[in-house]
Amino acid sequence: MTTHNIVSVSGGKDSTATLLVALALDTTNLTAVFADTGNEHEQTYRYLDYLEEATGVGITRVRADFTQRIVGKRRFIETKWREQGIAESTVLAALDVLQPTGNPFLDLCIWKCRFPSRKAQFCTMELKRDPMLEQVVVPLMGTGDMVLSWQGIRADESLNRRYLPECNEVGGGLFNYRPILKWDIPAVFEAHKYMGIKPNPLYSQGMGRVGCMPCINCRKDELREIALRFPEAVDRIDRWEQLVQKASKRGAATFFAGSKAKHPKGSIAAMTALEVMEIASIRQAVEWSKTARGGIQYDLMIATDATACSSAYGLCDSAEAA
Ligand code: SF4
Repeated sequence: MTTHNIVSVSGGKDSTATLLVALALDTTNLTAVFADTGNEHEQTYRYLDYLEEATGVGITRVRADFTQRIVGKRRFIETKWREQGIAESTVLAALDVLQPTGNPFLDLCIWKCRFPSRKAQFCTMELKRDPMLEQVVVPLMGTGDMVLSWQGIRADESLNRRYLPECNEVGGGLFNYRPILKWDIPAVFEAHKYMGIKPNPLYSQGMGRVGCMPCINCRKDELREIALRFPEAVDRIDRWEQLVQKASKRGAATFFAGSKAKHPKGSIAAMTALEVMEIASIRQAVEWSKTARGGIQYDLMIATDATACSSAYGLCDSAEAA
């Protein structure tokens, strides 16, 4: 029986350390896979190229494709929205924007007519887990071979991860393997050093996590750093908000969609869609990120929860503990 070793690589420190463990153990049948969300920083793409060259391990890039689902959504809007009596201008605006762009993150949001949120964090599944499963893991399953999915998860990242086993069977010959589960952050960087591999340079540029730029769960201080160092990322999200807003039946879509914004006027639940856009857009969130703690008017994001991104799958790099 052959064992296929699949390492999920995000460009972040933990998944890189996991790949380095696999290399140090002279693991055979090794495949590194990167799920490209389309919302990554340019430096992460360059880092993956570097990682391939420095380790000699090719990294398979997978991307989700929402073309068919967008086609289905168009049909739904053309028929159901009209049947529901949605204003024709809203229907036409949505149809105008419901076109595949080829960017997985944007296409996902256009198809869903909204951005993901902490409570509805469909991005991890749709952009990372499913493309990896469909394009890499599932084709290897059911052949009688063993498939070991190496995940760069650490127990001290979150409650979600604290009690995970180092190895567990999923079924169909697939096993999850978490070799750095008991590691702390210094051990992760030590592994980079020991193997002569540089960490993603974004860590030395104020970023607590590497992955989507920004992540929907990004901390207040991270957003401030992103706006300062990478204003083009904010410009891109601003453009995406305008597009997804057009796709939205409510006429509003903010990147920090799960925000519990509070405003002197009251909760956003009581506001119109346009009022929400005015106070909770990415531009407003950036302004808020510059405020001192005492001056906070909005609670747009999870400013203190460093583990908000820690899904049990380890597909999104979690924030470095403060
Ligand atoms: S990094 Fe954040 S925004 Fe990107 S897929 Fe993961 S949870 Fe979603």
